[in-house]
Formats: sequence, structure tokens, C-alpha cells
Amino acid sequence: MLKEIEQLLLLQDRDQKIKMFKAELETVPLEQQRIDQLVVSKNHAFEQIRQRNRDVEVQKKKLELDAQSRRDSIAKYKTQQFQTRKNDEFQAIGQEIHRFEKEIEQIEDKEIELMELSERIQSEMGHADQELKEATRQSAQLLADLKRKQSTLEERLREAQAEREQLTQGLDPDLLFQYSRLFTSKGGNAIVPVEHEFCKGCHMKNTSALVHRAKMGLDIVHCEQCGRILYSAD
Ligand SMILES: [Zn+2]
Repeated sequence: MLKEIEQLLLLQDRDQKIKMFKAELETVPLEQQRIDQLVVSKNHAFEQIRQRNRDVEVQKKKLELDAQSRRDSIAKYKTQQFQTRKNDEFQAIGQEIHRFEKEIEQIEDKEIELMELSERIQSEMGHADQELKEATRQSAQLLADLKRKQSTLEERLREAQAEREQLTQGLDPDLLFQYSRLFTSKGGNAIVPVEHEFCKGCHMKNTSALVHRAKMGLDIVHCEQCGRILYSAD
């Protein structure tokens, strides 16, 4: 095999690795976003329940105040009732007191409903808090794994780039230029084997004369169909 072909094959191997490492590194920010999102969504769920809890607490407070103001009114009416000497006024005040007592009953029913609701919300909030803690723990772990993966990839990329640099030493600049252009335009396959007259890059047949030249390994041979550099694998 032609010395240049051997060198180009090694170079292509490093270039393919470089391409792969770069592609993997490009997915890192997206993966990081995905991991961050785990916590964001759980935090959002927790905050929503916490807000519902606050709303219920406000409603409970309001009902307490409503009931208290009616109790205060009843106390005032009872004093008035005690002081009056008119029978019809006594009766009228009695009706007012009765009306307030009914309202207090209704308020207390609502308070019981809210207390039950509040208990359910508390339990949901505890659950959401657990999930948030779990997601936070998990995402910290995933981020640490991702960072490790990233630094490993970066190190391998640097190694492959250094090896690539070495491999280009002493290579004919024109050949290197041809190879590089093909590597970019042919999806990372610039130099391919020819098997039974078929190019393994484009899967098209080449003339016997050309395949013979590739087998002889005396010069650089290009596929007649796709232009890739061919070497004999037979
Ligand atoms: Zn071809």
C-alpha cells in the first residue's frame, strides 16, 4: 500500500474521531438544559401548591374574622336586649341575634371544609417537596456525570487533534488539501476501499483499468463516480 494512503487512513481515523467528539460535545449544553428542567418543573409544581396553601390560609383567616365580628355583634345586641324594656324591641333584637347565630354556623361549616382542604394541600405539599428534593439530588448527580463526560471528551479531542497534527507532517500539501475537501464534502469519508471494482463510498462500479491502478498502489487514485480517494482492500 502506498505510504501516503496509509498516512491518509490514519489521518481519516483521527478526523472521524474529532468529528464525533465535537458532535458529542455540542449536545452538552442541550443535555444540561434538560437536566436543569427537571428541577424547574418540580419547583414550579411545589410553588403552585404552596400558593394554593397560602390562598386557603387567607380564606381561613377571613372566615375567622367574619365569625368574630358576628360574635361581637351578638354580644352588643345581648347587652341592648338586657337593657330594653320594650317587648317588640326585645323581640327584634332577638331575631337579629338569631340571624347572626345562623350565619356563624354557616361560616363554621365553611371553616371545616377549608380545614379538610388544607390538610389535603399540606399532604400534597409534603409530597411535592419530596419530589423537588429528589429531583435536585438527581440533577446534581446527572450534572456531575455530564461534566465528567465533557472533560473526558475534551481530553480525547485534544489528543486526537495532537495526533492529527503529527500525521499531517510530511504529507504533500496538495494531497492534504484534496483529502480535506473530500472529508468535508463526503460526510467524513474521503478515502475508501474499492472492493470487486465497487467504490465503498458511493457503491458504484469503476473501470478495471482504474481498479488495477489502485491495486498496484503506485499513485493516488480517485473514484470515477464520486471522486473519493480509493485504496485496494483485496
Ligand atoms: Zn465512489
